[in-house]
Amino acid sequence: MDRELLERTLAELGQPSYRARQVWEHACAGAGSYEEMSSLPKSLRTELAGRVPFSTLSLEQQLEASDGTVKALFRTFDGHPIESVLMRYRDGRRSVCISTQSGCPLQCAFCASGQMGFKRDLTAWEIFDQALHFRQVDQVNHGALMGMGEPLMNLTAVLTAVRALPDLGIGHRHTSVSTAGWVPGIDKLATEGLPVRLALSLHAPDDELRRTLMPVTARFPIAEVIAACERFYALRRRKVLVEYLMLAGVNDRPEQARALVRLLDPGRFKLNLIPYNETGAGRGAFRGSSRAVIYSFRQALAKSGLEATVRVARGREIDAACGQLAGTAGTASRT
Ligand code: SAH
Repeated sequence: MDRELLERTLAELGQPSYRARQVWEHACAGAGSYEEMSSLPKSLRTELAGRVPFSTLSLEQQLEASDGTVKALFRTFDGHPIESVLMRYRDGRRSVCISTQSGCPLQCAFCASGQMGFKRDLTAWEIFDQALHFRQVDQVNHGALMGMGEPLMNLTAVLTAVRALPDLGIGHRHTSVSTAGWVPGIDKLATEGLPVRLALSLHAPDDELRRTLMPVTARFPIAEVIAACERFYALRRRKVLVEYLMLAGVNDRPEQARALVRLLDPGRFKLNLIPYNETGAGRGAFRGSSRAVIYSFRQALAKSGLEATVRVARGREIDAACGQLAGTAGTASRT
């Protein structure tokens, strides 16, 4: 729901000033339509339905995996696909993974989102509405701007959306913004004063290898990206989460673990090792590291004092896991 359009429209209709907040609160509490907002006059509900689309996105398909993960495929008003995921955990965590662009300009070799090309930046309300949609499915309490796209290349819209997420129950401390290493965006985010977590997709300890996996390295070499993350830490005092995809024979050797230890100060960074999820990207060029290799890599890091967790893949059977969002929906049954 475009909040600015809502406010403008209610003002034009001569409604009292509390109305916009009232409608917004209903929507954020999980209402599915204006019709359900029984505290509004009937005529106003009809008027709003005609003038302010309840969502800026239309839901095209929704799939649910056996682990409770839900993936939604939406279309923007101008026909671009975007995907978003709700992950549900036994401890009550409800995490939404949302997209910030349709497609992605950065073309990482292992990621399906880059393969579909770049369509456009999403607006703030298109970003927010993905989370709002899942609020109609379940409670939500964690947010990850880790779906399709590079959030820090669309930062103004991302910030407006992030500022609205607490209305859905997603506080800033439970919100993560993930970047492929877009340095000016890291610095801008650091000065915004929001206590969100910054996540950095690193995936290689040296520029030569990283350039082959992530072309953005040619523009922003690792040393510059790490320096920007250190500035972020200095201002925000929140450890940066480094995401590291484990690719067999590519970046999972013991000497690469040692190189990571030299690069990352454990006081400022923590590491999340990500098992590779199959995608069409790279035409099958990549295989994920085995569990044994992932765990010995982790041990090598731990020995040097660098804390690392291993990400548990969710929703693989419906292509909802990291790197699998490509706007093509899936073949599993609809929910
Ligand atoms: N552009 C941002 C956010 C989107 S990607 C970024 O690069 O961080 C979200 C995460 O999924 C990134 O860490 C990305 O590297 C990871 N990812 C991409 N493809 C993947 C794959 N095939 N398997 C597992 N993780 C993948």
